Amino acid sequence: MSTNKPMPAQTEISAPFWEGLKSGRLTLPRCNSCGHWIFYPRRHCDKCWSHDVAWHDVSGEGSLYTYTLTRIPTLPDFADEMPQALAVVELDEGVRINTTLVGLAEDEIRVGMRLKPVFDPVGNDGATLLRFTGVDKTFTPKRPDAQAAEPAPAAPPVAVIRVAVGDEAAMRALVSETFTEWSNEVVVDQALIDEFARLSGDDYWIHTDPDKARKQGPFGGTIAHGALVQVLQSRMKIPLGFEVTGFTNMVNYGSDRLRFPSPVPAGARIRARARVKSVERMKSGTQLVLEVHTHVVGAERPSVINDLVILYM
Ligand SMILES: [Zn+2]
Repeated sequence: MSTNKPMPAQTEISAPFWEGLKSGRLTLPRCNSCGHWIFYPRRHCDKCWSHDVAWHDVSGEGSLYTYTLTRIPTLPDFADEMPQALAVVELDEGVRINTTLVGLAEDEIRVGMRLKPVFDPVGNDGATLLRFTGVDKTFTPKRPDAQAAEPAPAAPPVAVIRVAVGDEAAMRALVSETFTEWSNEVVVDQALIDEFARLSGDDYWIHTDPDKARKQGPFGGTIAHGALVQVLQSRMKIPLGFEVTGFTNMVNYGSDRLRFPSPVPAGARIRARARVKSVERMKSGTQLVLEVHTHVVGAERPSVINDLVILYM
C-alpha cells in the first residue's frame, strides 16, 4: 500500500463523524428544530439555519445515486486501487455522501441499487474511511496492521525440477510458450523513485515532481523510471519451476530485448512472470534466454519486457 495517500483531517465540527467510523458507527448531525438531516457536518442546519443540532447514529443503508469507474488514478497514490468506483450514495435519511464502492464487480453496479456501509480502517492510528458495498455482500476490509505483517501475497509454492545443464534434451524441454505464475508484488512508491533519481542522476520532473506531473504530465502523476522497474526484477521471486544444476559459472550476459511498453505510476504494485524463450548450446556454454514481463498488478499490458540472457559455463 502506498504510504502517502491523503488522509481525512478531522475538524472540531466533523470529529464525531470520524470518531464514529473508528468504532463502526455512522453518526450524522440532525436539526432539532426542523428534523432535517445534515451532511457534510455543519454547526447549523442548512435548511432552517437553526444552531440546535445533535448527532444521531443511523443504519448507513441507502441507495446508489450515481457513480463512475476511474481507470486512471486520480492521484498516483491510488494506482493500487484501480479501477476505483467513485460514488455518490443517498442514505435513507436523504443526505448524499461522496464515497467509494468496494466488493462489487463492475457489472454488478447499478444506479439505485441498495447499499450498506463498510468501515475501512486505513491508518495505523485507527483512521477509518466510509465506503459502501451491496446490502447482500460480505466485504471484510483488510486491517492496515495485517497488511504491514504481510506486505504482499507470497508467490504460490511451485514444484521445482532439477535439470543438469549437460542434459541438452532436458534443457531444451524447458522452452515454453506459457508464462509462469506471478511473482510476489513490489510497491513502487515515490520514495523509491526519488532514491533511484538520486542514484542515477535522472531527476526529470515526470519522475520526481508529483505536482507538476499531475498538472502537466500525460499520466496524471509521476511515473517510475523504466530502468528502475527493470532492476526491481531482483526483488520479485518468479516461480520458475526449475533449477539448473551442474555448471561452474552462471553469467548474466545482458539482454536481447528491453522494452518499456507502459508506465508504472508512483504508488503502483508490480509483479513479474517469465518463460524460457530459448536454450542454445554455444562454444562457451549453454545460453538460456528468459523472457521476463513485469506488469502493474491488474494491467493487461506489460510495463517492462526483458529477454534476459543467462550463460551457464
Ligand atoms: Zn433545521
